[in-house]
Amino acid sequence: MKRLIWITIISVSMIATLTACTKDPCNAGHTWVEATCTEPKTCSVCGATEGTALGHDWLENTPNYQQAKTCSRCNETQGDPLEAEFAKKGLPVETEWDKEFTITTPCYNDESKTTNGKYKFSNLRRADSDDALGLEAAQGYEWLIFDLICRYDDENVRKNGFTGVFNAGMDYYDTYNVGNSDLGTMFEPGKTDLETVDRFTLNWNVKDYPECIFLWGEYTDGWNAEGTVCISQHTIYIRIPTGYDGMVVSMIPNGSDVLDKLDAGEMVIDSLDDECVNFRVIPE
Ligand SMILES: [Zn+2]
Ligand SMILES: [Zn+2]
Repeated sequence: MKRLIWITIISVSMIATLTACTKDPCNAGHTWVEATCTEPKTCSVCGATEGTALGHDWLENTPNYQQAKTCSRCNETQGDPLEAEFAKKGLPVETEWDKEFTITTPCYNDESKTTNGKYKFSNLRRADSDDALGLEAAQGYEWLIFDLICRYDDENVRKNGFTGVFNAGMDYYDTYNVGNSDLGTMFEPGKTDLETVDRFTLNWNVKDYPECIFLWGEYTDGWNAEGTVCISQHTIYIRIPTGYDGMVVSMIPNGSDVLDKLDAGEMVIDSLDDECVNFRVIPE
């Protein structure tokens, strides 16, 4: 009985060896598939492996405000992009063109009285350049040109005028590094020499763009013939990386505590309250 078991074991192992010899598909060598981030070098026929997986090669500038941590080899991503400063602070931003925002500000002649201005961002134009306005092209950038228009038509403004809002230009993503407070230069179309205006750097999809420009046009105010409606408006000209969606124009009402905080040296983004309107300029 004992011998029978031995014979059985021997014959089973002989059969196994014979099978391996005749059916090894990789006798003539494995068919290697190179190692990847997650798999070692592997034979596509028998599944044999050699070495270890390469591991991901994370792009050094990721994560950034647009991209999550990203592997340069396989494009796998991990986590989320960095959180924008405005989002981190929970500051609301408006994005809708031609939407009307009512902002209450003191009257000019009698600051104990207030008037309601109806503001809207309007007339977005996108251009590479505009010779008539003196807006120069730059490779990889575009100009966004739009109007901030305010309509006053109440009793108080007719009698006492308006003080309006203080505008601040900022960056939605990286506010502290880009345009915390006074982004922008006054601009007279066709007259201001662009060589003399300030530049700032935006990072967009990993690349730095150092030739960004933010220009505030002059205000123009005009009453209608009946003296019942005053339209106050100005144009804003921004040169940013093509497609960039992170410029913010904040409107801070005159008479607001926010302006006192700014005078005391606080950062704009740390001072904004819910009477301010923050408009995020998203090109469409
Ligand atoms: Zn093989
Ligand atoms: Zn990878």
